[in-house]
Amino acid sequence: MKIGILGGTFDPVHLGHIQLAQNARAQFSLDKVIFVPAFKPPHKQAVLPLTSAEDRCSMVRLAIEDMPFLEVSDCEVKRKGVSYTFDTVSEFERKYSGATFFLILGKDAFEGVDTWYRAAELKKKIHFLVANRGTCEGRVPEDARTQWIQMPLCPISASEIREAIKQGRNVNDYLSPKVLECIQANAFYRKI
Ligand code: ATP
Repeated sequence: MKIGILGGTFDPVHLGHIQLAQNARAQFSLDKVIFVPAFKPPHKQAVLPLTSAEDRCSMVRLAIEDMPFLEVSDCEVKRKGVSYTFDTVSEFERKYSGATFFLILGKDAFEGVDTWYRAAELKKKIHFLVANRGTCEGRVPEDARTQWIQMPLCPISASEIREAIKQGRNVNDYLSPKVLECIQANAFYRKI
């Protein structure tokens, strides 16, 4: 079985994440892609999530419901503490023994892989499927098994969406309708 893992803060999950997952799945014939919302993202300590891990998980659930091949795991939320991809992959290896794992990520995140917890071991465990984000020119890790996802640049980011909501701008084009409804019902991101 070929399993894609898409980790992130998902604050909120947006159509860029969905496009990333679907393109990776189709291009690399993955059996499924599992979205894994971080409880505590190790690389975003300066900008902590604005919504709870449970709310971020719920938004991912709403975004992918009815989408075949896409799933969400709350393993990092249940584990609590800082969310390390190494721990998540180790947990999935136990759960899906014999599977091959593909970490799906944007180039901005990929550039930081060498600073991740147990990076050298992680690189031996998984393959990396990377999408361009247009904004990054940094060096990418060299000794990682890497393939590039062919997809049009998708200029959407969660931080821009949060800022737009705060300013009262329209974000309908960037979010699944049910996620938008959830954000409005809970008044998420109105005050930052
Ligand atoms: P923020 O703007 O707050 O940094 P984000 O939009 O990058 O958030 P994350 O939840 O941090 O969202 O992203 C999870 C993963 O999805 C990361 O690997 C990131 O690079 C990737 N990603 C997010 N948005 C896009 C996009 N528009 N195109 C390609 N990859 C994306």
